[in-house]
Amino acid sequence: MPIDPDFQKRREKIGKEKGIAVWGPVDPPERLGVRGTNVAVDWDICTGCGICLEICPVQMYEWRETPGHPTSDRKPFPAKAAKCMSCYRCEKQCPAKAIRVTFGGPQSVLDLVTGLMMPVQFIAGPIYGVVFGPYFSSMFSFYVGWVVLVLGFPFLLSPLIYFSKSGKPAKNKSLMDTTVVVDSGTYSIVRHPQFLGGVLLMIASILISQHWLAAIVSAPFIVLICTKWVREAEEHLILKFGDDYKRYMERVPRMNFLLGIIRLLRKK
Ligand code: SF4
Ligand code: SF4
Repeated sequence: MPIDPDFQKRREKIGKEKGIAVWGPVDPPERLGVRGTNVAVDWDICTGCGICLEICPVQMYEWRETPGHPTSDRKPFPAKAAKCMSCYRCEKQCPAKAIRVTFGGPQSVLDLVTGLMMPVQFIAGPIYGVVFGPYFSSMFSFYVGWVVLVLGFPFLLSPLIYFSKSGKPAKNKSLMDTTVVVDSGTYSIVRHPQFLGGVLLMIASILISQHWLAAIVSAPFIVLICTKWVREAEEHLILKFGDDYKRYMERVPRMNFLLGIIRLLRKK
């Protein structure tokens, strides 16, 4: 029997081991429960074959001794769960179906804080521009800003629109747990429409408010998206989809939507 996809609802969290959740019931040495949350291993199913440790590209697992357990006397512990790239290799290749991997959201405090601050920035600039008027009184920039804002939204919302339609996420998993490369809609124009949308909305916020504060706050976000986040996303997607994603990279530009539209028109 594979790991219960709803183990977080059906089992009780009985504590933590080195910061990793332990889901009961636990009654050693026979019953050991589940270790982990976004990368979870059901130790009562695991046979200790070691495949997950061999294939994980980020060496996420560590062995733990479990003498006396009926299926094996060692189990993989998801010690560095924050490093998981959600490539799903371990989940797919575990012969006992003892592993469940789900999208874990932001992997660092910096990513979490910036992820929360960005929507504030998207909203605050336009509100300032409408309520107080643009700081430098340029109505041209103000209206261009609104055009950029309208353009940016469909890109920003792309995962919500296209992942559910074409990403084939597995049952009981989040939209982000896609199982195939999504290359339709805005994903046929650029590889990272959500990041492009974020950049466009921040530019819109600057143009509409024309406030120096909007520019100061937006600049680090734009740099962060265009360097760290997009690079990390690409590494993760190459690991997850392998050659399929590499072929997609050859066809579709990263975030240059003008190039993407030209390529798309040429293809058609
Ligand atoms: S691949 Fe599955 S059965 Fe093998 S050690 Fe990892 S969790 Fe256990
Ligand atoms: S999903 Fe990939 S990166 Fe994450 S633990 Fe499994 S093999 Fe490692």
